[in-house]
Amino acid sequence: MPTRAPRHRPHGGQVKQYVPPARNRQSERALATNSTYWLRLRALVLAQSPLCVVCLAEGRTRAASHVDHIDADTSNNDLSNLQGLCRPCHSAKTAREDGGFGNRRVRA
Ligand SMILES: [Zn+2]
Repeated sequence: MPTRAPRHRPHGGQVKQYVPPARNRQSERALATNSTYWLRLRALVLAQSPLCVVCLAEGRTRAASHVDHIDADTSNNDLSNLQGLCRPCHSAKTAREDGGFGNRRVRA
């Protein structure tokens, strides 16, 4: 005969470990990537430079699919600060200049 009523333990009695929320990169941008202004700016940059700038300099021909902030300042959306890059080149540049993997490189 049981001494007490069984308790409901949805996770097998284990306490879920706290996982801090991922950094919200959208909130740090001056323009959200789904905003109409950014989508139009992105379309304009890709129309002006449809090929990846880095690949073109290295003799490859690859379509640009990302718009990159040259100085890595997302609040500087001047056309002279934007360039079209392919995904691998944009990822490499971001990892090299911003620390990559969600890390934040401290700028002087
Ligand atoms: Zn490229």
